[in-house]
Amino acid sequence: MSGVRKVHIKSFGCQMNVYDSHRMADTLALEGFAETATPNDADLVILNTCHIREKAAEKVYSELGRIRMLKQAAAHDGRRVVVAVAGCVAQAEGEEIIRRAPSVDLVVGPQSYHRLPDLIARVERGERAIDTEFPVEDKFDVLKAPSREATRRRGVSAFVTVQEGCDKFCTFCVVPYTRGAEASRPVAKIVAEAERLADAGVREITLIGQNVNAYHGGGPDGRTWTLGRLLHRIAEISGIARLRYTTSHPCDMDESLIAAHRDLPALMPYLHLPVQSGSDRMLAAMNRRHTRADYLDAITRVRAAQPDVAFSSDFIVGFPGESEEDLSATLALVDEVGYAGAYSFKYSARPGTPAAEMADQVPDALKSERLQRLQRQIDRHQADFNARCLGRTFDVLFEKPGRHAGQIVGRSPYLQPVQIMADAVLIGEIAPVTITEVGANSLFGTLATPARARESVLIEAGA
Ligand code: SF4
Repeated sequence: MSGVRKVHIKSFGCQMNVYDSHRMADTLALEGFAETATPNDADLVILNTCHIREKAAEKVYSELGRIRMLKQAAAHDGRRVVVAVAGCVAQAEGEEIIRRAPSVDLVVGPQSYHRLPDLIARVERGERAIDTEFPVEDKFDVLKAPSREATRRRGVSAFVTVQEGCDKFCTFCVVPYTRGAEASRPVAKIVAEAERLADAGVREITLIGQNVNAYHGGGPDGRTWTLGRLLHRIAEISGIARLRYTTSHPCDMDESLIAAHRDLPALMPYLHLPVQSGSDRMLAAMNRRHTRADYLDAITRVRAAQPDVAFSSDFIVGFPGESEEDLSATLALVDEVGYAGAYSFKYSARPGTPAAEMADQVPDALKSERLQRLQRQIDRHQADFNARCLGRTFDVLFEKPGRHAGQIVGRSPYLQPVQIMADAVLIGEIAPVTITEVGANSLFGTLATPARARESVLIEAGA
């Protein structure tokens, strides 16, 4: 490859992968690669894969089928396209990917993508490159920071990875195998990254990790800091108005984190706290290490600290051995918590995990029927929650223009999209909005403080 090179990165799955894709793009930018939104004109195509959801590997192989055609068409025009598979499917499948999809030149696991420039150089020398190691060096020390332009392009809300991996070993989950043991980044490096983002105009930071509230990074004082303490430190950064964190485990809701919900106005009152099942029998089979009562206790403690808080969660239905009684316990838990939203999935076996070997696998038709019942219940609570927002006024962080002329879109504290008719100058700003209409997927409203009044407030305040 020579001249201006283009890279297209397609992300599957969670926010961790979106973040990883950005860091790969930032690292490759220094190697002369410009990002392109389409694979059609790319010299390098990276599929950043996720192994959490059903048939993840199959989806990757069918995507690779499409990319093979593209690679053949480019070769016909005398152009070489390098195809890379990154992320958790790369980690789990390794060499098997190249065996099944010979158009793939490079396979790189989530802990090794800081080595991408070297791996690409090997491919250019005519080799196939596979790296699914758990290297001793810290990839975050090697990966390059985004340019100000890249940060601006990505918007006013950004992710920062604070920890990776997991030591919990839930019996259905591949993360401890694909991402490895829990490891936390040092406080100073996280703060430096957050300061760079704030400097480039980012207003909201979501701290991310597979088990984010297990965070235990080394602090500048030589002590181990918790996530609660880290949130306090990041809230001090000028320009950062909103903080979130995801994904949490109920066992790691320690007192410092609960206190952060009470003491930090920047910490948004919306917590994604996966439970997976409302049945103690299923929670034990899943090795979740907590009971239904423990989970409800965590919810109660957060609510006591922050009465305005709303919750979302993850659920798995049809886990091996799940009975009608177990499902009823899950449905009752949904009612008891009254979630503002939740993700729910049919259990699907991941090779290599203990649950894949369990007897009593639930037939697929029954799983589908149970999922529908659960989703109906979750949807009802979500609709109730949204309906209760009608007439309320809350701060919205405006992110981008809306689909219609004169419209802008932002996020409420509860992550709902909020659409208003207002000047695009408000993008990147936080302004109070009164909700006047509730749609299926969005809220609609009007500025609570008229723009002209807001302007004079800003002038008076000397802003
Ligand atoms: S806590 Fe989360 S990441 Fe860790 S094993 Fe369980 S489901 Fe997977």
